[in-house]
Amino acid sequence: IDDLKVVSAGTLSLHHGKHLKAYVDNLNKLIVGSGFESKCLFDIVSSSEGALFNNAGQVLNHMLYFEQFIPNGVSMGADMKKLIVRDFGSVESFVEEFEIKGASLFGSGWVWLAQDHDGKLIVTQESNAGNPITRNLRPLMTFDVWEHAYYLDYQNRRSEYLSSLWKVLDWSVIENRLRS
Ligand code: MN
Repeated sequence: IDDLKVVSAGTLSLHHGKHLKAYVDNLNKLIVGSGFESKCLFDIVSSSEGALFNNAGQVLNHMLYFEQFIPNGVSMGADMKKLIVRDFGSVESFVEEFEIKGASLFGSGWVWLAQDHDGKLIVTQESNAGNPITRNLRPLMTFDVWEHAYYLDYQNRRSEYLSSLWKVLDWSVIENRLRS
């Protein structure tokens, strides 16, 4: 793909227009009569299971994923950088740990930057529709490592996809998700 910068229009169109849409459609069907009709996505993902959890999780995860990108990216602010350096040693160590955990996640899932009760930042691997919110961690940032997120553009080169995504990350969106 000649004009591929980070993720191609073809991947985005399938990923957002077909994969995410299917999760939204499934969730809208499954929620009827589930008792979760008036709950927000965060509450549904925190306390549901089975197909409802899988589809609600995938809707929430994809919203957090797509919302954090912008053409050309927005760099990390000074406060965020301070937290990253405090908890990972350096921005480079954080990026390295995040990419290693994304590349080594077996099968489909998501790699996350999350925040614990004490405000500490950690990187977690979650399988399938997993979200760190199920362990009471606050989800801040995520890279989708399901093959549908990168296979058209990168084939089996998941690491290359992971290391490209930083270029379009909007850190202002991620900073707004921090515990206040
Ligand atoms: Mn996806």
